[in-house]
Amino acid sequence: MDTFSCFNTILLNSAKKCSKCPNAENKDVALIYDANYYLLLTSILQRGGLSDIPFGHTYQELLKKFSSQNLLCFILYLDGIGLCKSIKLKMWLLSTSIIELPPGLRYHRHNMPIVSIWIGHNDPNVRMWLGNRFRMLLNLKKQQVYVNPSTSFNIKYYGVIGDCPALKLILDFIGHTGYYCCFFCFTQGYNIPGRNKRQYPYEKPLNLRDSKTILELILDAPLPTSILIDYQHVTLLRHFRDTVTQISTLLIPALRKQVDYELKTQPFPHFFKRKMRGIEDFSYIKATELRNLLLCGFLPRFYYSILEIDRVARMALFICGIRLIHSHPTFAQRTSAIADELLTTFYRDHSKFFEHLQNFVLHSHAHYAEMFDLNGASF
Ligand SMILES: [Zn+2]
Ligand SMILES: [Zn+2]
Repeated sequence: MDTFSCFNTILLNSAKKCSKCPNAENKDVALIYDANYYLLLTSILQRGGLSDIPFGHTYQELLKKFSSQNLLCFILYLDGIGLCKSIKLKMWLLSTSIIELPPGLRYHRHNMPIVSIWIGHNDPNVRMWLGNRFRMLLNLKKQQVYVNPSTSFNIKYYGVIGDCPALKLILDFIGHTGYYCCFFCFTQGYNIPGRNKRQYPYEKPLNLRDSKTILELILDAPLPTSILIDYQHVTLLRHFRDTVTQISTLLIPALRKQVDYELKTQPFPHFFKRKMRGIEDFSYIKATELRNLLLCGFLPRFYYSILEIDRVARMALFICGIRLIHSHPTFAQRTSAIADELLTTFYRDHSKFFEHLQNFVLHSHAHYAEMFDLNGASF
């Protein structure tokens, strides 16, 4: 475990704050826990269960490029979690998921070896936090990873996944609400006068940009194609939740109560892990509950008896677009093109039907179809 302060000095374990900086405070200290990555990784691999996964274009290219090797490909997963609201203590966790595990197992916590954990009041300086860890990951690539004397793997790093703040951190971007915020293109937003809300109107064509970041050291697929947007955070927990909240505040209270009751009492088959919640419980809602609402609950419950037809139709574009991106290629080769048309039409006219939600989170959806082609449905 290391202790860092003010992003300059490594403190000894006993020190409570930095002695070299006059303005240092106790809360500038962050704790870093580096895991024994190799040990975690080999113990996961010894459990077995690897299989060949059809993972989209980028993965096929890697297989071709390294056809003589026994590949094991990782996606770096960066996640920030609030630990305590009152003192703004936050944990950042860098772990890796193994692409060759089947999708149902790939994102289980115990199958994702941890690289490092940062706990502090400030967001980490990534170069300082992860510099050594990236060197360790790089070294791993230069050697074979042995699971037993007869089985070994060559490690490749496929890409990085996270929500917008996490990607911003690891990609060294200005800020996901600032100028040139997008990881993929040079879209430029504008501010709503008097409000701190940057909006990103739809524009076509989107220019893809080259990025230079700490990640380029180790990634085997080129940036920005190896950046994956975390759909659970961006689509479910952000855009869909914000939009439904806005729609619901426009309803009269009695109607809102009725919709909430219908959502909560909606029967589901037994294999649905979670039911739906009412909109009044949205602050505690889980991604899986939002997914059920998006895919199964919204359209039947908010149909035109409650909302005007134009707005429901817009939401239907969004819901169908996400459903296409989220499953097996329903329309074969044309799946991503159809999803893109639905999502970009929704994005283009968004400000006519919803207020101030044409933000970067919505803009990210303009890159979903391309991500689907490159990485398959499981991103
Ligand atoms: Zn200092
Ligand atoms: Zn963009």
